[in-house]
Amino acid sequence: MTHLHTHRPAGRHFLNIPGPTPVPERILRAIDHQVIDHRGPEFQTLGLTVLAGIKEVFQTAHPVIIYPASGTGAWEAALVNTLSAGDTVLMAETGHFAALWHKMAMKLGLKPEFISSEYSDWRGWRNGVDADRIEARLRADQTHAIKAVCIVHSETSTGVTSSIGAVRQAIDAAKHPALLIVDTISSLGSIDYRHDQWGVDVTVGGSQKGLMLPPGLSFNALSPKAIAASKTSTLPKAFWSWQEMLDANKTGFFPYTPATNLLFGLREAIAMLKEEGLANVFARHNRLAEATRRAVRAWGLEIFCADPAEYSSVLTTVMMPADHDADHLREIILNNFDMSLGMGLAKLKGKVFRIGHLGDINDLTLLGALAGVEMGFELAGVPHQRGGVNAAMQYLSTCAKSKTTA
Ligand code: PLP
Repeated sequence: MTHLHTHRPAGRHFLNIPGPTPVPERILRAIDHQVIDHRGPEFQTLGLTVLAGIKEVFQTAHPVIIYPASGTGAWEAALVNTLSAGDTVLMAETGHFAALWHKMAMKLGLKPEFISSEYSDWRGWRNGVDADRIEARLRADQTHAIKAVCIVHSETSTGVTSSIGAVRQAIDAAKHPALLIVDTISSLGSIDYRHDQWGVDVTVGGSQKGLMLPPGLSFNALSPKAIAASKTSTLPKAFWSWQEMLDANKTGFFPYTPATNLLFGLREAIAMLKEEGLANVFARHNRLAEATRRAVRAWGLEIFCADPAEYSSVLTTVMMPADHDADHLREIILNNFDMSLGMGLAKLKGKVFRIGHLGDINDLTLLGALAGVEMGFELAGVPHQRGGVNAAMQYLSTCAKSKTTA
């Protein structure tokens, strides 16, 4: 039964889905601004500032395109600007979002090849990409029919990451000219990501996760090789065309009306990430993720990600004990404690729930979220051991102690 809220829950809603994430007050205040002329001098300063600042978040010296679109738009932009009808692209089935991107590639008239695991059910989603299989496939592609390798860095549906450095090495080892296209929609601004150093040609990002903004902006970070490919790519593109964007962006403007107020928010988000320092932002996410995993283990439950080297620092996917429905648990937690948790998507529906711990989050907000989960288990009758929150507290206080004595 769905309950219509007839009362106002007091306090702050706990938005612990793995994006969109809570928007900090500073960003809300920045967005709360009268709309300005997007062809005037005030906009030009804003445009030049965000176009320069966003490069630092991608760790690139090359242009970054900013679209007024959700992440799905930036996925499409990455493909249509670099590829031509019938091109083969190599993708890896690491989860629900990788599967959606694959479906999009088919709809666009590409020939995506999907590297899947030995398991065709949900177990196939417990690991990231196997770089050795990418290398083997590229070595076998003597005619260089494969034009791009597309990888999701942080699979938001599973909490599993893929090593982009390892994929770069695989492409280099096979001496293959394919472009490397990476989805960082849930890792950008949360997990260390190096567009230039890892030789990525197009990085796809979104505003609503690590950047702490509302949904509505998405990104393509480019490489010179990607820009060169865009000159010969023949897939139809108009709204998504990089060329018009790159020309207009040179002077801080956009070829069509930009999402002005989200760009005010983006300017603030970049300033906040710089004030904290990207390295500290990544360390904070690593710490909160480790605290969450300690809680899950103390509860006696299983973390979905199979390989500790591939744990995502932005979310943790928790497997439910057999015969217990994750969506029932989530509903109880929402109704009693006003917290939203991520649902199991597609093959994982009802089997898992996802705890988002990214963006504007600190030790105590995480502990509040974990307390909500632990109490939810009790109310929903989910078999577990108590003490998950305690395990997280112990870890976080140990981290704080080593910081103060360092
Ligand atoms: N890729 C990943 C990894 C995502 O997490 C998402 C959304 O959550 C998308 C793509 C799609 O982005 P959007 O929903 O903003 O269109």
